[in-house]
Amino acid sequence: MTRYIFVVGGVMSGIGKGVGSAAIAALLKDRGFRVTAVKIDPYINVDAGTMNPVEHGEVFVTEDGLECDQDIGNYERFLDTNILRPNYMTTGLVYQTVIDRERRLEYGGKCVEVVPHIPEEVIRRIKLAAKKSKAQFALVEIGGTAGEYQNLLFLEAARIMKLKDPASLILVLVSYLPVPQNLGEMKTKPTQYAVRTLNSAGLQPDIILARSVIPIDKPRKEKISIFCNVLPEDIISAPDIKNIYEVPLNFEKEKLADRILKKFSLKPRKRDGSTWRKLQRKIQRAKKPVRIGIVGKYFATGDFTLSDSYISVIEAIKHAAWELGRKPVIDWINAEVFETNPRALTTLESYAGIIVPGGFGGRGIEGKIKVIGYAREHKIPYFGLCYGMQLATIEFARHIAKLKGAYTTEIDPKTPHPVIAVLPEQARKIAQEHYGGSMRLGAYKCRITKGTIAEKAYRTNMVRERHRHRYEFNNKYREKLEKAGLVFSGVNPETNLVEIIELKNHPFFVGTQFHPELKSRPMAPHPLFVAFIKAAIAKK
Ligand code: GLN
Repeated sequence: MTRYIFVVGGVMSGIGKGVGSAAIAALLKDRGFRVTAVKIDPYINVDAGTMNPVEHGEVFVTEDGLECDQDIGNYERFLDTNILRPNYMTTGLVYQTVIDRERRLEYGGKCVEVVPHIPEEVIRRIKLAAKKSKAQFALVEIGGTAGEYQNLLFLEAARIMKLKDPASLILVLVSYLPVPQNLGEMKTKPTQYAVRTLNSAGLQPDIILARSVIPIDKPRKEKISIFCNVLPEDIISAPDIKNIYEVPLNFEKEKLADRILKKFSLKPRKRDGSTWRKLQRKIQRAKKPVRIGIVGKYFATGDFTLSDSYISVIEAIKHAAWELGRKPVIDWINAEVFETNPRALTTLESYAGIIVPGGFGGRGIEGKIKVIGYAREHKIPYFGLCYGMQLATIEFARHIAKLKGAYTTEIDPKTPHPVIAVLPEQARKIAQEHYGGSMRLGAYKCRITKGTIAEKAYRTNMVRERHRHRYEFNNKYREKLEKAGLVFSGVNPETNLVEIIELKNHPFFVGTQFHPELKSRPMAPHPLFVAFIKAAIAKK
């Protein structure tokens, strides 16, 4: 039997519902249960692949190739397990399924209606995700905030599930308690309204996670309890913290997992909490900084949260730095600056290592290529992720192999030297404007070449890494570039596509066609990130 824990947000977005859900999942896993987590995104986009990362955050990719919300990444990092396709749905995907089914006459001539058919499809998907992972507990995070028109049908799904099997489901409200500066006092009213909104949808929270800048005190717990119809011990203090991996420990102090078990009439089990405590000790010990620069273009975009757009890259840097006893310091470097002012390149000397992460399109691209050239010449550890690998190939082709005008056909389809180009299959998709979910996605095998930096890092000759790109290294240039000194240290054994490039006579110059950051976990940092940070620490 699976028990469901629905998590919904109140008052406002961006208060850590994803991390909260992931931390609850982790605590239950620590107690010996099989746990999974599902994310529901209230967008018409059928998947997250077509959403703007600056607005919506990073597009995470699962092992089985689904482009999804960054919260799936949080679940993977906290549960230390792969989350698969059934665990993510959007409004668009749910409607698409129902409409396709209607076209196949699968509703047998009935009128197909928003209620109950949409919530029924949502419930079918939630149960499928739980079944596929044989979960005893399934966290179900509903995106958005209670009271929004957009996520009402998902609340309906929770209400119907509860109606049919009341003992199988509880609801957690993640709310926000502001402390207005001029008052200096924590206010509970917005939370009261949030609960009322849920009540009008036929739902009553069983537990409230009280997010705020400071811990919530006893008088306020009691006030919320009376007004919101929730026991004081089910109001969990969740103050701001320095790093997200503290959240499980904080929840533990508030006995959150035991409260949850009690609601399901399960006996509190002893937990093995050592993993999170050990990690905290590791983080606290890491005092000496290592400064990493991430080069990007999303800097002149107005409102943005870069830490969300590149969350897996940032987390992967942290995991590796902590592992090596260092405190990661991450700076954003605006690629466009170097296009107008190449002299600014000398500022790169202050970084122990430089990363060019994934990206699309032409803005800032020449600036990124200049940065890569500088890192190559001045022996600054360089790690290129996907686009960062493609641009490193272009830089090498232009300046070392002397292929004038070398480029990717993504930017210049008429380049004399298309060192990065599309495969025929991808060209067809572009011609048909079939963009959604059609890149090379998910995990592929990669054979590691002996005697390379990659082999030294991975310590194995076959790995599986996750992809999300349309363009590839053009094998017509393989011999020429190899002769000029480029090392192909990872190749797909089935398709012969180049997956990793690197340079000799450089402390660390590596580019991966895949996204290694997607598989880094706090308890198991990614080997290539560890090797990169190691080289960064060694830089004088
Ligand atoms: N724009 C490049 C491609 O589509 C790289 C994509 C990426 O960095 N994720 O191939």
